[in-house]
Amino acid sequence: MTPFPRFLDALYQQYAGLNDGKLASYIPELAKADPNWFAISVVTLDGKQFHVGNTQQKFTIQSISKVFVYAMVLEALGREAVLQTVGVEPTGDPFNSLIRLDEASKRPYNPMVNAGAIATTSLIPGENASDRIERMLTMFQRYVGHEVYVDASVFVSERETGHRNRAMAHLMLNFGMLEGDIDEALDLYFRQCSVLVNCQDLAVMAATIANRGHNPLTKEQAVHPDCIRDILSVMYTCGMYNFAGEWAYRVGIPAKSGVSGGILAVVPNEAGIAVFSPLLDDRGNSVRGVRVFEELAQTYGFHLFDLSMGRCKFAEAIAQ
Ligand code: GLN
Repeated sequence: MTPFPRFLDALYQQYAGLNDGKLASYIPELAKADPNWFAISVVTLDGKQFHVGNTQQKFTIQSISKVFVYAMVLEALGREAVLQTVGVEPTGDPFNSLIRLDEASKRPYNPMVNAGAIATTSLIPGENASDRIERMLTMFQRYVGHEVYVDASVFVSERETGHRNRAMAHLMLNFGMLEGDIDEALDLYFRQCSVLVNCQDLAVMAATIANRGHNPLTKEQAVHPDCIRDILSVMYTCGMYNFAGEWAYRVGIPAKSGVSGGILAVVPNEAGIAVFSPLLDDRGNSVRGVRVFEELAQTYGFHLFDLSMGRCKFAEAIAQ
């Protein structure tokens, strides 16, 4: 088999010329991204790293943050309490869908669509707004292993133009699905989406999840291991929005995408993988990102239901 770094280089070259898709523009600041940015990072549980392309280029984490905030409130409040506020049912609808609020159970469907994520964020514990911001940022820091910052211009851009998210929050307030100060919850949600990361950070975050919450580089426990099964389950069923089913079929590992062009995916007990490329398909997933993951799954057989390759196939294969 081709050594993994060579395989990654070839994969990168193969898709660097693929210019299908569009930059997200509904958040004006995101339209300033360079469509050529492209990066692939892999981090294994024993701390091996593989990187190709613009892996140090910073971008805002966007919807990928939803996974980590969900884990944070699961850890703080417990599964049953969180389930009362937000369900775990995929919608098959776009991420910003307004209509999908389950009025019967008085919950948004799942924490990976915006309505569910805003409800999840509203559960972040803390004394006051700045305490909640602080806790949220330190939570991210445990996963990436260094300080993180909010991109002020993206945050302001989202806050000023996020009418749809605001409408959703008001609708949820109307249905009794949200409590408390919704403007503060929205602010916190826009802020979590505006946390700056690079592709390498995302792979370390994914590897931390793959390692039951234990950061393989810093050795810090980022989240209680009991939360991992729950977050991987919702990533698997809901992480890629209305592409989640097809992704599960073709790639077969839990993942989460964001509108700035990142995709983070977890090979449980083996590795974290991230791809960054801001050109998006019409479901809001990175075009090159999806193709890279399809190729990787095809070549390394890490699809969870690909039983032909035995256990730990990915980590072993790339170590050679
Ligand atoms: N901040 C974005 C929004 O709320 C996140 C969406 C995404 O990444 N899919 O619209």
